[in-house]
Amino acid sequence: MTAETSPRPARAARPRDGAARSDGAWATGDRTPLNPNEVFKAADDGLNVRQRIEEVYSREGFASIAPEDLRGRMRWWGLYTQRRPGIDGGRTASIDPAELDDEYFMMRVRIDGGALTTEQLRTIGEISTEFARGTADVTDRQNVQLHWIRVEDVPEIWRRLEAVGLSTTEACGDCPRVVLGSPLAGIAADEVVDGTPAVLEIQKRFIGDPQFSNLPRKFKSAVSGSPRGDVVHEGNDLAFVGVVHPEHGPGFDVWVGGGLSTNPRLAERLGAWVPLEDVPDVWAGVVGIFRDHGYRRLRNRARLKFLMADWGPAKFREVLERDYLHRPLLDGPAPVPTAEPDHVGVHEQVDGLRYVGLAPVVGRVSGPVLVALADAAEAHGSRRVRTTPHQKLVVLDIAPEQVESFVEAAAAIGLQARPSAWRRGAMACTGLEFCKLAIVETKATAAALVSEMEQRLPTLAEPLTVHVNGCPNSCARIQTADIGLKGQIVTDADGAQVPGFQVHLGGATGLGAGFGRKLRGHKVTASELPDYVERVTSAWLEEREDGERFAQ
Ligand code: SF4
Repeated sequence: MTAETSPRPARAARPRDGAARSDGAWATGDRTPLNPNEVFKAADDGLNVRQRIEEVYSREGFASIAPEDLRGRMRWWGLYTQRRPGIDGGRTASIDPAELDDEYFMMRVRIDGGALTTEQLRTIGEISTEFARGTADVTDRQNVQLHWIRVEDVPEIWRRLEAVGLSTTEACGDCPRVVLGSPLAGIAADEVVDGTPAVLEIQKRFIGDPQFSNLPRKFKSAVSGSPRGDVVHEGNDLAFVGVVHPEHGPGFDVWVGGGLSTNPRLAERLGAWVPLEDVPDVWAGVVGIFRDHGYRRLRNRARLKFLMADWGPAKFREVLERDYLHRPLLDGPAPVPTAEPDHVGVHEQVDGLRYVGLAPVVGRVSGPVLVALADAAEAHGSRRVRTTPHQKLVVLDIAPEQVESFVEAAAAIGLQARPSAWRRGAMACTGLEFCKLAIVETKATAAALVSEMEQRLPTLAEPLTVHVNGCPNSCARIQTADIGLKGQIVTDADGAQVPGFQVHLGGATGLGAGFGRKLRGHKVTASELPDYVERVTSAWLEEREDGERFAQ
């Protein structure tokens, strides 16, 4: 759940007669708040709600929470109210937000770079078991989300997370969210440069910093020194991608202005090369541009991609260099596009040890599974685990002779290192179970689809991505999936309004990056989904030329 929580878009104020309508950018000099979100952000910084949670709300309970904190500022600490169970998805757009709120929270734990120790993993698992009814989902932003959190328990959860170096700071809200990183940072033989120091420095210097805690909307960034496009860089507001400069050596190519959701847009290159040590400053410069020049009138035009669409990469780079960095950047080469990797399976690390990528079904795990995984990893000599942008988990540093024993131990807790292509390629967002914007159920629907397709087409060996979203937002990146499914109410054969999906076909990131085609009439009810996916997949397998990918 990464989208705006209120189902009702803010209404823009009408311009005065003869006045040019402001886009609300602070750089114009007028900081008048132009929509309700800007109003509450101007009234009090989102970060300040922590003190009230610790000193008031956790002691006096859910009813004591001020509305602007409940549906606004608590996001700055990774907390969204959950959807009240039993409310039909068809009512999502029309119901009063207060009616949708359950008295429990989703809590997002940010895992910058996707890098966890087994101690951190165990701590998240224990928190899940003790405070979150055992729930845990690995998200496609490398976070872990917990559900059923009571406000009374939040300070103790923070204490336990922070004791092992984790936090929920700015995990949601109009601020810099988790920084994605290569799940193979520091261990991949083909890595151009390990981006970990830059991720850690960004986290240390800028996360929780009030200079960046009031942005026009969320800000998604990524740093990966892999040449294999493993952080879906085209979908981020800002991404640093590993490239070798012909004169200056390993560094990063800078991409700006990506974002899916409604009005999807792929990021564009600035054509600039940045060495590892300069990444945090360039990151801060881009965030500064977004803070100052980003549009703050309409929430649905506030992401950085809209500014980038108006400016283009040349102007964006010029403003960045002139006004924020005060120096020119070096020109640099583009990365060579490759097919997007998913890190699943057993692979050799640069040091001869093995990493084992594991596939939970659509990212769903549990507290006990996370604790058991930490135990299994440690029993096989590992202390390091990574989350991936594909809702998967990777355990590092397994000795070759320990691999099969570890693979068996992981399989025993439901985490497969050699999953079917269906399980491997499936992702799903939070959906109707917990998300207040959802129109349809997603996790269980996708899990049932995986199970059904494993029966119907068990020999599928080719990579095929099926991403399921519960609404038009794109938390599960439907536009860049082979088969993207956007939740909506559809009309079935009997004329009834039922949960279903608009289909997008043939999207991709990396090699052949582009959005899937939204085919008119390609809508399918949830109950018909297995039949539809079987038909589409069978047709592709029959008609394709040798080795042709679904997106071609
Ligand atoms: Fe995101 Fe899914 Fe919720 Fe829509 S239903 S906002 S795609 S999590």
